[in-house]
Amino acid sequence: MSRNEVLFERAQKTIPGGVNSPVRAFRSVGGTPRFFQRASGPYVWDADDKQYIDYIGSWGPAVLGHAHPDVIKAVQDAAVNGLSFGAPTEAEIVMAETLCSMLPSLEQVRLVSSGTEATMSAIRLARGFTGRPTIVKFEGCYHGHADSLLVKAGSGLLTFGNPTSAGVPEDFAKHTRVLSYNNIEQLHELFKASGDQLACVIVEPVAGNMNLVKPTREFLQTLRELCTQYGTVLIFDEVMTGFRVGPQGVQGYFGITPDLTTLGKIIGGGMPVGAFGGRKDIMGHIAPLGPVYQAGTLSGNPVAVAAGLTTLCLLQQPGFYNTLETQTRKLVEAFNSAAQAHGETFSADSIGGMFGIYFSETVPATFAEVGQGNIARFNTFFHAMLNEGVYLAPSAYEAGFVSVTHTDAVIEATRQAADRAFESMKI
Ligand code: PMP
Repeated sequence: MSRNEVLFERAQKTIPGGVNSPVRAFRSVGGTPRFFQRASGPYVWDADDKQYIDYIGSWGPAVLGHAHPDVIKAVQDAAVNGLSFGAPTEAEIVMAETLCSMLPSLEQVRLVSSGTEATMSAIRLARGFTGRPTIVKFEGCYHGHADSLLVKAGSGLLTFGNPTSAGVPEDFAKHTRVLSYNNIEQLHELFKASGDQLACVIVEPVAGNMNLVKPTREFLQTLRELCTQYGTVLIFDEVMTGFRVGPQGVQGYFGITPDLTTLGKIIGGGMPVGAFGGRKDIMGHIAPLGPVYQAGTLSGNPVAVAAGLTTLCLLQQPGFYNTLETQTRKLVEAFNSAAQAHGETFSADSIGGMFGIYFSETVPATFAEVGQGNIARFNTFFHAMLNEGVYLAPSAYEAGFVSVTHTDAVIEATRQAADRAFESMKI
């Protein structure tokens, strides 16, 4: 038995499913999850000391590569001064100032400890601000695991949402409407029918939780226009895309300004940090200023803020996003060329430092289209790549992440691995 197998067996005795977050369990691809012991730059090492090129990057945060020495030093320096105060610090102000200066739509921002907290709080705020009950989300978008977000529409537009997790009462789910991503007609229809009841629309402005699915510009523009017209709060969930798609997130990339933005992942540099922010008139409704309650014992934690601030500082260096985008594009070309050489039905796409690979002829634009790809073929490819020392997301419904430490040599090694993986899949 490998050490990964031993650990997985042991983990399952005291941890449900052996993992602390479900997708880690390899349920959709099958097999034994790898237990990591360390990481550096583009690499991770598992419990058997096998090295992998990592294309998850902790699901997004590791945009500088793992264990960047400056980030580690900042964490160490902060730690010796105390791990948590439960009181304000100057570093939090610098963090807020940095976020507000980097994302022009942020006038004020509050720190939390996870993406889930950020979206949950932003939605409560939108409801408190508008005095309206209903929220709108899109099929295939993930915004954390708050009750009202674990909902998928039974039959699309204008039906009440059905909970897709046990433990979510129907009464909670009925306030959530779920529409199809990139579908403009549905948006018009819903707003026309009940725009004055919609507290907010929350959207991954580039989706990364149903594999990578890009929005059309028209989709985002329509969202902006309808929300403005009906006084609905537009929330861009940039937990994944913030500072990954570009220096100003998707909002800067497309030039569309949301009312509120949620952040996480990169802004914590690998430590637990989230944030939500936006228009000052909306943010003024949060406690202690306003009636919308929101709080956190570890919010603005000094060690986490140190990691996040150092990360944000490093990615503002000239040329950073050029490098990130170029390397990600080269990776997509590498996958495409390996697939083509083996006659695979395959496509791939990227934006900034995010990519998607699809076992389908064309790049999907909706959740349903992602599901039409050859998922079984992806699962086989995933294991073939794992065998070759390349760690992809263990699901056909997840995007991939590149860091600036994924050099040409690393990408060429990935292409060669893909070539061997596709070859092995012919047999
Ligand atoms: N929003 C988006 C877009 C995400 O990708 C995620 C996590 N992958 C979340 C929210 C939830 O963040 P967390 O896992 O930190 O709670």
